[in-house]
Amino acid sequence: MENVNLFLFVVEAVGYFTLMVTLLHFRYRLGLGMFLTALGVMHFMETYLAAVFYVPLPFGTVSPGSSVFFAGKLMMILMLYLQEDAAIVRQPIYGLFIGNLLTVGVAWLLQLHALGQVSAGQGANFEFLKEMGGLMLWGTALLYLDSIGIILLYERLGRHLRHKVVLRFMLCGFALLTFDQIGFFGAVHYFFDVPAAAFWGGWKAKMFSVCLYTAMFAIYEHGIRRNSVLAFNSRPIGDIFGDLTFRERYNDLLSRTGRDVLTGLYDRTRLELEAPAMIKEALRQGQDVTVMILDADHFKDVNDQFGHLQGDEVLKAIAARLGSILRVNDRMFRFGGEEFVAICPATDHGEGLRLAERLRWTIANSVSTPDGRQVTVSVGVATAAADGASFTSVLSAADERLYLAKRSGRNCVVGRAGLDQTG
Ligand code: GH3
Ligand code: MG
Ligand code: MG
Repeated sequence: MENVNLFLFVVEAVGYFTLMVTLLHFRYRLGLGMFLTALGVMHFMETYLAAVFYVPLPFGTVSPGSSVFFAGKLMMILMLYLQEDAAIVRQPIYGLFIGNLLTVGVAWLLQLHALGQVSAGQGANFEFLKEMGGLMLWGTALLYLDSIGIILLYERLGRHLRHKVVLRFMLCGFALLTFDQIGFFGAVHYFFDVPAAAFWGGWKAKMFSVCLYTAMFAIYEHGIRRNSVLAFNSRPIGDIFGDLTFRERYNDLLSRTGRDVLTGLYDRTRLELEAPAMIKEALRQGQDVTVMILDADHFKDVNDQFGHLQGDEVLKAIAARLGSILRVNDRMFRFGGEEFVAICPATDHGEGLRLAERLRWTIANSVSTPDGRQVTVSVGVATAAADGASFTSVLSAADERLYLAKRSGRNCVVGRAGLDQTG
């Protein structure tokens, strides 16, 4: 008997997943409404089953309503989020909640009707309707928490397991359905006297469902969705944005914007957006931040002699060198034509001067004009908070020192005490 039930359990999970994912996959052709409506109808079904229908399975006595269909719905919500975004996901959640409120309200209203002749077996069971409505309200309130939880957890796991989409899917299912089992079981136990032994059975069945759904999700992700995304835009497999979530896509986009096209460094807009925040944060933590401004020496001559295109190549070489010397938390921006600004958090003035000197030395010894002449930079260095507490004031202190460096003969570093003698 248990084996027949287990077989049916698997058939239900496969059938549910296949149909729902088909609706989700073809949502642009069919309209998202089909997927959402099916989800809503199944919500009623699963709550009804979880209240009254329990069958013996190898895990214990379990309702397919909560173990197959509820678990499936939560996984569908996560899949909807993966392919759309949070603004779409909240629609079915709020919609279910309002529909359930309506069920309770309408059940209460209907019972006020004066009944005429009712044929046998046709009277509505309002007590049951109201209990169902109550249970569905509780179920959706939990679903609301489950959905927020599963999305947040999925995002959080992305920091460590970014491309392990299937593993993240499974871990999220395990965690949130455990949480849900505790919440939902409490309610059915209270309203419908479902015995305590059903808790563990239900939990095991939900975990088993997660395994089934994960396996099917893996087949769908790797076998079907990637191929169909690939078919539309023949891009390499590692570059498919389709398996990233909305926020990851956004961060990805953000990391690619604000870059200067010529050098690949961050641009001035990005500097003005980020530098004040970096300085504010460091000062809040009681740390120094060093700001340096670097300007290529006699760069006009390079252009005049070799043309702007060759000049651009030299600029690219300077930028590449500068970028390669920085430490992980330092940021280099292209400030203007041949001017660069570096922000170095947790760096006091002495350390900043040493870093600036390394930058100067490296450029002078590794970048040259097409005819082999040395290319050099001059650097002005200032440090917050001693040289100012805002980005603008530190930058203008650094800028004044850059002009001092130019006047001192170029190819040198100037800090607070004047010309740095380490070079
Ligand atoms: P100084 O040592 O005083 O800095 O002399 P300089 O010639 O470098 O003078 P300044 O910094 O005022 O001039 C910047 C020159 O850099 C002007 C322009 O010809 C060149 N430049 C600015 N942006 C670009 C760029 O994107 N590509 C190229 N090829 N040249 C640029
Ligand atoms: Mg300049
Ligand atoms: Mg210059």
